[in-house]
Amino acid sequence: MKILCNDQRVELPAESTVLDCLRAAGAEGAVLAAMRGGQVLALNEPLRDSCTLTPITMDDEEGRRIYERSLRMIMLLAARRLFPGEQVRIEYSAGQGVFVRLPGLTLSPELVAQLEAEMQRIIDAAVPFERMDISKADAVKLFNDMGEPYKVELIEGLEDGTITLYRNGDFVDLCRGPHIPNAGFVKAFKLLSVAGAYWRGDEKNRMLSRIYATAFADAKDLKEYLNRIEEAKRRDHRKLGKELDLFAFHEDVAAGMVFWLPKGMLLRTILEDFLRREHIKRGYQLVQGPQVLRRELWEQSGHYANYRENMYFTEIEGDVHGIKPMNCVSHMLIYNAHLRSYRELPQRYFELGVVHRHEKSGVLHGLLRVRQFTQDDAHIICAPEQLEDEIIGVIALVRDLMALFGFQYRVVISTKPAKAIGSDEAWELATNALIKAVERANLSYTINAGDGAFYGPKIDVKVTDAIGREWQLSTIQCDFTLPERFELEYVGQDGERHRPVMVHRAILGSLERFIGVLTEHYAGAFPTWLAPVQAKILTVTDAQNAFAEEACEALMKQGIRAEVDTRNEKLGFKVREAQLAKIPYILVVGDKEVEARSVNVRLRTGENLGVKSLDEVAALVQEDCAEPFKRGGMSYRFS
Ligand code: ZN
Repeated sequence: MKILCNDQRVELPAESTVLDCLRAAGAEGAVLAAMRGGQVLALNEPLRDSCTLTPITMDDEEGRRIYERSLRMIMLLAARRLFPGEQVRIEYSAGQGVFVRLPGLTLSPELVAQLEAEMQRIIDAAVPFERMDISKADAVKLFNDMGEPYKVELIEGLEDGTITLYRNGDFVDLCRGPHIPNAGFVKAFKLLSVAGAYWRGDEKNRMLSRIYATAFADAKDLKEYLNRIEEAKRRDHRKLGKELDLFAFHEDVAAGMVFWLPKGMLLRTILEDFLRREHIKRGYQLVQGPQVLRRELWEQSGHYANYRENMYFTEIEGDVHGIKPMNCVSHMLIYNAHLRSYRELPQRYFELGVVHRHEKSGVLHGLLRVRQFTQDDAHIICAPEQLEDEIIGVIALVRDLMALFGFQYRVVISTKPAKAIGSDEAWELATNALIKAVERANLSYTINAGDGAFYGPKIDVKVTDAIGREWQLSTIQCDFTLPERFELEYVGQDGERHRPVMVHRAILGSLERFIGVLTEHYAGAFPTWLAPVQAKILTVTDAQNAFAEEACEALMKQGIRAEVDTRNEKLGFKVREAQLAKIPYILVVGDKEVEARSVNVRLRTGENLGVKSLDEVAALVQEDCAEPFKRGGMSYRFS
């Protein structure tokens, strides 16, 4: 039979396995399975006819799934061997990894180590995964003999016919596969304990003691992963937020809501000011709607029918009012303040909108998952023929902002889902506008077919942070429903009334979450323009206090955020503390500096720039602030 694989054509005898064919065709690396016409084949499956094969590795989602599925069975076998008679339960959800629960046991580090060692023994012994296709009656008998009434029940509930089972050692499980041929294909794995986390974020599930298993293509990948975990712990924004005095949480009185401390609020204000200025420069208008709106309005928008369980409600003089979970509705009413002419389009409304959305207490996570947050939200209402240019404008802003913060990113366009409203014509127009805009911006993109919202296609921007983690930040969504529901109109050139198109867009997403991501991205060392304190003046002895205060005032007059440390502490201690506070410029003042009316400049990285005058320092700080803006083709100063 002839096999085509990776543009290689090879001839093999019939009944050769998938693995033989892949190897003969020169497929390199850790192949885990192969794809044949949309069907996933196990490596040990024999082939009978000529076909085209595509190798599947750990880099493919399907490959990861196979690997994790097999890891799960290895884990079960190990747990059965170690704790016979214990009720072992494994929970697996694709993409989230494998979790094991041992309800009768406490998951101590020793127990985790034991389980890990047993799994390694199974892997070293290359225990095979055998597929068994047997009749329902035989399957029932098999599990009855094994004393597994739960599985017997499960099988009895299935339709008659062939049942697929997999055997790994003396453990048999109901599984459609495919699996790796044997446990030896697992090159590296790690068990991590995640005690006290909720399973699937459901607070009704009791707190579980779980072990999380992750598989890797090789030992190098595993090591990188473990380093990343350590690095992520070091950068955890909840830890840094406390150390840098930025924000606090009081779960007992306001779960999922943030208390901004002065330094954090300053940072946030700098970011907000910049965003407002940048939006004004790009032709947006600042607007603001109420925090609370009557229920009838949420019924009109569809939120009451579709989003009610995420909303909070209150009563005003007997009328139910909803606290806004989104800003769109107010912006509709702002547009409808009077009849619009085509000359007024596009209307671009920008609001740093505070919204409330109910999240289960089990899933709240620092700044990353909260109940009250502020969106850098805008709604663009335009004529259909303006859509492409408007999207281009939004994408330009995305590009400039990502460059400013030093994020790599990728663009995903989601198209019409099976259940959707709006005409085919409208979908085509909007989808083409999104694609053409991304192409005109010279960005590469992937299409997520059928993954758009029911009300319109969208662009999602996923950024990669300094340690390689991906975050979904920006979203640009076309919407055909709200203009309908709120009867938005404009008078066209022809004097007739027309329905405009609408775009929802948020670039940073939520300021809370974004600041959480930024804190981890920069490991707390914010760029100088964002740093709450840009320069700290440290005295060697009390003799320099007067000049230090004077210098601080002089810098502040030049717009630099400066502080003085005149405490009676050793200089080394004060320098270390300023470095830990990640202050960009540390200015040391001794007798010599007082005499020369200058400061000795050190950076938080430890680099020493030597003695400089106050004007020189101010210029240096300003230059440093302006630098990242050049990357985004923007200017630091508002003019
Ligand atoms: Zn919106």
